[in-house]
Amino acid sequence: MELFELTKQLMSIPSTSGDEEAVGFWLRDHLTSLGWQVELQPVSENQNNVIAWLNDTPRVWLSTHMDTVPPFLPPSEDEEKIYGRGSCDAKGIIAAQITAAERLRADGVEDIGLLYTVEEERSSTGAKTANLHPLAAKCEYMINGEPTDNDLAIGSKGTFRLKIKTVGKAAHSAYPEEGDSAIERLLDILEDVRHTRFPNDEFFGETTVNIGTIEGGMALNVIPPSAEAGLAIRLTTPRAPIEEALRSVVRDRAEIVVLSCSEPVRMIEVDGFEKKVVRFTTDIPYLTNWGKPLLLGPGSILVAHTKDEFIVKKDLENAVELYVSLVKELLATNEHE
Ligand SMILES: [Zn+2]
Repeated sequence: MELFELTKQLMSIPSTSGDEEAVGFWLRDHLTSLGWQVELQPVSENQNNVIAWLNDTPRVWLSTHMDTVPPFLPPSEDEEKIYGRGSCDAKGIIAAQITAAERLRADGVEDIGLLYTVEEERSSTGAKTANLHPLAAKCEYMINGEPTDNDLAIGSKGTFRLKIKTVGKAAHSAYPEEGDSAIERLLDILEDVRHTRFPNDEFFGETTVNIGTIEGGMALNVIPPSAEAGLAIRLTTPRAPIEEALRSVVRDRAEIVVLSCSEPVRMIEVDGFEKKVVRFTTDIPYLTNWGKPLLLGPGSILVAHTKDEFIVKKDLENAVELYVSLVKELLATNEHE
């Protein structure tokens, strides 16, 4: 199936996180019909990773995720672009990788594999499960695909997600001296967080904090007994110094509940590719058993997750060329060692 057709075919099967089963079945059938060995690796009751390979020594793997953020936006196109959910994050990437893999195979390269995960957009349980798969041991290089504008990402920031919870005492709002406002406590803390200078890193850049959610209170005429804010910190250093700085700001005024953390990752460099550091997090921190990581994919992260998501067709075609040459380069480098 031709590159753009394959992209649109994958996009036409809705697969928001938790609902990837149908697209996984389609990929299994498609890759099987092309002659790949394919395994569905169970992650949860209705979620399976797709793992495909050709011979007994798949040394270089191409991977990305099958799930998308909501809502489903059906594919459409014009001369220049394909529009809709998953066009750039990440079904266009799956299509480019499969096309590249088939081209490699036509050139006699068979030491390759394909890994498509579930749940990347939420908790990366797909990647965590994939990390336990026995074929990981045969993988020397894992080329993960996310929208990097076809540049080779040599670093990606980490993500530290947490909640700050305050407790007060409810009272009638006309008698504030009887109560203690958890919301006012939270606002004071958040104000301090906003003025905190967190450690940065020369290679990865600036540590940034997003106060993404805020909840609390019961009614307009009740002093709020509880409140909480959700923060996502884009890590450029290991978690420890950032958490330390945060705890020294919050002190004993609130409880900090850690939701998840992925550390910043350095990826390998390859001569001849445009390089950059990306700010988003991928499945890579959870695929530690899958060889050395690389990150490259067509499209812009700035349109991913938006209602205007698109991919430029020319970029999809370029990605195929880049994946082919990257895989060949990695296989060749290794032979000399
Ligand atoms: Zn993605």
